[in-house]
Amino acid sequence: MASNGLWIDIEFCTGCLACEVACRYEHGFAIEEFGIKVVEQVLNGGQTFNFVPIPTDLCDLCVSRTAKGNLKPACVQHCLAQVMEYGKLTDLVKRMEEKPRSTLWSPKPRKADRKPFASAAV
Ligand code: SF4
Ligand code: SF4
Repeated sequence: MASNGLWIDIEFCTGCLACEVACRYEHGFAIEEFGIKVVEQVLNGGQTFNFVPIPTDLCDLCVSRTAKGNLKPACVQHCLAQVMEYGKLTDLVKRMEEKPRSTLWSPKPRKADRKPFASAAV
């Protein structure tokens, strides 16, 4: 079975952080926890910015949504710029070939007993 992943077009990511918020609400993460983190890349002496969303080890690719077959991951669903796609890695690699300045992530789904930090502390 092909593994799945997240493809993100960083050329048109606006850095709006909607993916971070959607992920936190979907999974009930605390404010200091991130299933995906948008990193700001400053280039050309501050004249150019890239925003690069990076899934963390808390990302489980929204298996509770995607296993149903008809729901996208929360981050993809709520990306305002529609620059995120979820799917089979073999398909997403083709997207990378078509689109420079994009990234492909294959988060390893966290184990069922791997709790978010705040939950683990309780
Ligand atoms: S796929 Fe789900 S768990 Fe992973 S970053 Fe997106 S919203 Fe968070
Ligand atoms: S929601 Fe979309 S546009 Fe906004 S920061 Fe995340 S990937 Fe970028």
